[in-house]
Amino acid sequence: MRDKVWLSSPHLGGDEIKFVNEAFAGNWIAPLGPNVDGFENDLVNYLGGNCKVVALNSGTAAIHLSLILLDVRPGDEVICQSMTFSASANPIVYLGAKPIFIDSEEDTWNLNPDYLEEAIKHRIKSGKKPKAIIVVHLYGMPAKMSEITAIAKRYGIPVIEDAAEALGSSLYGQKCGTLGDIGILSFNGNKIITTSGGGALISENVDWVEKARFLATQARDAAPHYEHSHIGYNYRMSNICAGIGRGQMMVLNSRIKKRRNNFDFYKKSLSEFDGLFFLPEPRAYFTNRWLTTMLIDPSKSKNGISRDEIRLALAKENVESRPLWKPMHLQPVFADSLYYGGDVAENLFALGLCLPSGSNLTRENLQVVIESIVGTLNTAKSTKHF
Ligand SMILES: *Cc1c(COP(=O)(O)O)cnc(C)c1O
Repeated sequence: MRDKVWLSSPHLGGDEIKFVNEAFAGNWIAPLGPNVDGFENDLVNYLGGNCKVVALNSGTAAIHLSLILLDVRPGDEVICQSMTFSASANPIVYLGAKPIFIDSEEDTWNLNPDYLEEAIKHRIKSGKKPKAIIVVHLYGMPAKMSEITAIAKRYGIPVIEDAAEALGSSLYGQKCGTLGDIGILSFNGNKIITTSGGGALISENVDWVEKARFLATQARDAAPHYEHSHIGYNYRMSNICAGIGRGQMMVLNSRIKKRRNNFDFYKKSLSEFDGLFFLPEPRAYFTNRWLTTMLIDPSKSKNGISRDEIRLALAKENVESRPLWKPMHLQPVFADSLYYGGDVAENLFALGLCLPSGSNLTRENLQVVIESIVGTLNTAKSTKHF
């Protein structure tokens, strides 16, 4: 069998080991040290503006701390984009609060500003103003942040930007992660750069960032002994992982370039086929194209080929592909949650497929994917069944 073609696998640049070796040489085998400081610095410089950064051991931890900073308590309501990975919403439940899910819009597949405002109005009328809004830049495509932050401001609700998939993406030249009140990043193994596992919390609010750092290191008050006036967490990033991150930051821009090239290659190679749709990049938007996604409409596609027929054909060639995120309001675990919207997210889930998108994919890897998809589209169903 041919080597597996992965959806998105780690892609080291070569300098990571140098920083990891420094951690060993200095005996900084701990959740603090020069690499953690250095990685935070690299992120601040990359993201620009006046942002401050605290490096954490996951993106999920960063969302959890963001909600704590915004004083989310048991019984509170938090608005969250439905079309996302479950880690966007789970920390709401960690705190005993309730997620209110919102549909996507068609231009970016992210939080729909109209349904957002409808939900806020309706929740306020029901006697409960939402405590926060979690918006996601899905697959690296920036959400409609100007509209969303304008609504959030009007009602005085802070915005948490889940930029786990969108490091390097930007809107009108401003980097994702710095567009809301608090931003979060992930450096999990499948993201655009990795620290094996890790995350970061970003904000211009120095007090929040310092409080996040304090809570993430077990909330130790200033005293010679261990004194605690808050419940703490063990959420800091390891100095070894941060060393990997420093090496990865050196190649981030080339990784983005390659992922965008993957997208262009797929789109161009499949341009002659009806019923396939690739999400365009709106004007003034810049997406890192973390994953290339494609909608397959079987009512328009050649031979009526469906998403799952393409997915199974790829699997036969040892190629990993995956349906888009299943919306949270359709997940069994969130069956009792409120939802505002229509069927945009549901349709994306029904028709969408994520294609292999790693920055380490070769021309041959991409060719295998295209040949499999083209071959499937060219197979008439009547003959397939014999
Ligand atoms: C990966 C991801 C997260 C979680 O990040 P971890 O570092 O894996 O905890 C959160 N939200 C989205 C949208 C993600 O893709």
